[in-house]
Amino acid sequence: MSSIELSSVRKAFGALEVIRDIDLSVAEGEFCIFVGPSGCGKSTLLRLIAGLETMSGGDIRIGDTVVNDLAPAERGLAMVFQSYALYPHMTVRQNMSFGLRRTGHSKADTEARVKEAAAILQLAPLMDRKPSQLSGGQRQRVAIGRAIVRKPRAFLFDEPLSNLDAELRAQMRVELAELHRQLGATMIYVTHDQVEAMTLADKIVVLRDGRIEQIGTPDTLYNDPDNIFVAGFIGSPR
Ligand code: ADP
Ligand code: MG
Repeated sequence: MSSIELSSVRKAFGALEVIRDIDLSVAEGEFCIFVGPSGCGKSTLLRLIAGLETMSGGDIRIGDTVVNDLAPAERGLAMVFQSYALYPHMTVRQNMSFGLRRTGHSKADTEARVKEAAAILQLAPLMDRKPSQLSGGQRQRVAIGRAIVRKPRAFLFDEPLSNLDAELRAQMRVELAELHRQLGATMIYVTHDQVEAMTLADKIVVLRDGRIEQIGTPDTLYNDPDNIFVAGFIGSPR
């Protein structure tokens, strides 16, 4: 697992400045959550870290490496989206194996990794099913499994639970917390759900209009917000 450091990161789409001068340190093993209203730049910031967008300025470091010029696959990160992006014609096992086999992992290594991830996520009884035979929560678990098998340096999540109903979201929150504990993984997690942020995060980054309003522990943001925006956002009823 690796730390992630952003310094003076900027992104503009044409004349539209979406990310404005972001400095941020995510420690190795930390669960860091980006929150903020729709359109504030959460997904864009995550995509810049993943290498799916090109920065307009600044530096991103993963561990000891400046990754500004590295392609997404070279950064060693795994991204999980809200749309599961599973292959519908493949079984759970094939969905979890495919990326490894394609990138040259041996059959034995692939099988061992898939087995380990299936155990962690309690997917073992479902390995021969197709995505259409799974519930939403099970599909999301497969998508997370596909990330785990890669043994990434960090996990990036973009609103992974937003397609699930409230009950399932609550259950998956517990599972994600347990997953973080078991893997000791560096995680950056985007949500607009304050409950998710407050229950999962070691550190919350509150974004507004492409800037950081405040960074702090859930406790600090709840009890000692810097301003009304942070207080309103963290404290607002759902
Ligand atoms: P969030 O995830 O916080 O809802 P986004 O990062 O998706 O916000 O978007 C931030 C802003 O950047 C929005 O105004 C959005 O319309 C704009 N934006 C995102 N992607 C693009 C793009 N590829 N081209 C132009 N504008 C974009
Ligand atoms: Mg988004």
